[in-house]
Amino acid sequence: MATKRDLSLPLDSVTFRCSLCRHTFDAQPDAVENEPAAEHHPYRYTATCQICGQSCGQAPFHKGLLKAWANATGPRTAEGKAATARNLEGHPTPEEAKRTRFNAMKHGMNAEVAQYFPAKPDGYPTCASCDVDRDYCRSQPACVRQTQLFMVTHAAFEQKNPKHLMPIMASMQASITAIIQQILQTIIADGVKLTTPAWAVDREGNVVLGEYADLVTGERRQIMEVKAHPLLKPLQEFLSRNNLSLADMGMTPKVIDQEEQKLGRLQTGDGPPTLSLEDYAAKQAESMAALRVLAERANARKQRDPVLVEYQQQNGDPQ
Ligand SMILES: [Zn+2]
Repeated sequence: MATKRDLSLPLDSVTFRCSLCRHTFDAQPDAVENEPAAEHHPYRYTATCQICGQSCGQAPFHKGLLKAWANATGPRTAEGKAATARNLEGHPTPEEAKRTRFNAMKHGMNAEVAQYFPAKPDGYPTCASCDVDRDYCRSQPACVRQTQLFMVTHAAFEQKNPKHLMPIMASMQASITAIIQQILQTIIADGVKLTTPAWAVDREGNVVLGEYADLVTGERRQIMEVKAHPLLKPLQEFLSRNNLSLADMGMTPKVIDQEEQKLGRLQTGDGPPTLSLEDYAAKQAESMAALRVLAERANARKQRDPVLVEYQQQNGDPQ
């Protein structure tokens, strides 16, 4: 079998989508043309629709995956990119040799992802915005979207370059920010303290409200319980675990002041330690790696999965 280390060579199997009947299918391309404009993978594929016989192009989501894949595994130097665009087939450089094979990776990822995210058309919250044809989704072992996420994340780890995780992290941070905003709005709408009548259940099973007699006037008064809004605690946890304090986001007056003082000066190393975007990505990658180790331990059984075993054999022993 040919060693296909990167996307400078055409793929054996491509996902197509029929523009006429919307049928989505995996197939060996009928024709491969050069597409120099697509720098990361300079090929245009066509195949015949298995349903209506129309000539089909590559499915948009599959094109998107190849691009994300190329970003996470492809050459980063100008020469490397030019080499890919010129479609050269030289000896693999050490950098190229590090690259992960797309087909093998997809195969292995399918097996792994299926454990956590089996294909479930319209069964996940993210399905609402998913453009993968539902019939195609149904025919897959694992959720296509999750497989893509796993593939790109694994590629970033294998390349030891958490920078490739930035798009994923950015969307995640945006979602977290949206959740925090909803929590905040709810707390503001309800008030930070909630006052409710105290109550208990008596021996007969009736609910009784707590009351007491006012010592001065003798009037019956209701006992009220005052509680902090139950969402305050999760909000606090969310903010601290995400390093989202105002200082971390550079939003306190003091930090803004320091930033302004630094403008126009060369950074000297003795200033206050700030978290750069790359440090942040590295930190995120670290915790994700730890998570990965845990998951791997818990799922030692899956090592016997025949598809995964084949994938690992294809990729060699990582030591
Ligand atoms: Zn068709």
